[in-house]
Amino acid sequence: MKSRLHTLRPIFLVAALIGALIAPASVSAVTVKQVALTFDDGDSELHIRQAVAIAVATQTPITFFPTGKSLRRFPNLWKAIGDAGIPIANHTVNHPNLNDRYALKGSANVRAELQGFINIARSNNIPVVPYWRPPGGAWNANVMRVAKSLGLTLSLWTNTFADTAPMCKNRTIVAYNKATAGTGAKVVVLGHVNPYTAQTVKLLAAVIANYDARGYEFVTIPEMVKGTPNNIDWAKAALAVSAPAISPTGARVPTSVPTPIDHTNTKYTFAQANGITCRSALPTQPFSQLNDVPFGIHRVAVVHVAIRGDGACVVYATTELCNRRTRRIN
Ligand SMILES: [Zn+2]
Repeated sequence: MKSRLHTLRPIFLVAALIGALIAPASVSAVTVKQVALTFDDGDSELHIRQAVAIAVATQTPITFFPTGKSLRRFPNLWKAIGDAGIPIANHTVNHPNLNDRYALKGSANVRAELQGFINIARSNNIPVVPYWRPPGGAWNANVMRVAKSLGLTLSLWTNTFADTAPMCKNRTIVAYNKATAGTGAKVVVLGHVNPYTAQTVKLLAAVIANYDARGYEFVTIPEMVKGTPNNIDWAKAALAVSAPAISPTGARVPTSVPTPIDHTNTKYTFAQANGITCRSALPTQPFSQLNDVPFGIHRVAVVHVAIRGDGACVVYATTELCNRRTRRIN
């Protein structure tokens, strides 16, 4: 099966066919709206597996943008995913801000980040596709030139699961609404498969259902950008869900789909979805002061989270803890 559309919406296809027969050949009879669901970083083995598990269960094409570090940590898992035809694209080796890297260390350093990803994939026989997504979405003409010289096509996003936002502001309903706000002909949704993004995989099935109900076709990034048909082998993808992470001969790790969460529940917090609990030893801080917490992409942070009685959470960021428990975001 190549795409979910072909298997799940036969009526839609018939309508498209009739439209094609009665419309002038030069005019597209039906404008198919496309959505690409993409998942970055790959710092959580569990969430990588769960994203694949939902893709398999719903036969929804997805695309990954892992770091080279993730390829190194879970080489056999990524190989199984790539061998199944799920696209794996370039998100650099170490997730630096490439604009800063270029400014500080020049083009060779940026090239090393992008080429390094390709090299790690090659040495582990992980199939990758020639697309790149700059960490934090940071790119400029200089960085672009380097990527182009490696034959890489830029892939950004139009929507997000909001899973890099400050945790307490990011209630489930907000994330769902941001992920499904896309109305264009080509929507790209960004999510993450990192330790603190359990909420994203738990919302995934609902987000898929939302786009499906609105007539969107689910595509991979290569399919959306260049019309390259996806060749996802769902039987192989199903095996990839529980493929050993490291050695091809290692023990298989069974993985189930994550328990869906109710995206209409306004009391359910990001912290709850991610199983984060407070450290009661720390003093509480008013919710209104959260804006002062120095969150920022690639800069922060660490946090203690306390869940208040009303379901809101309180975040603490302390410099002495930042070195010990940093959480890379985005
Ligand atoms: Zn990233």
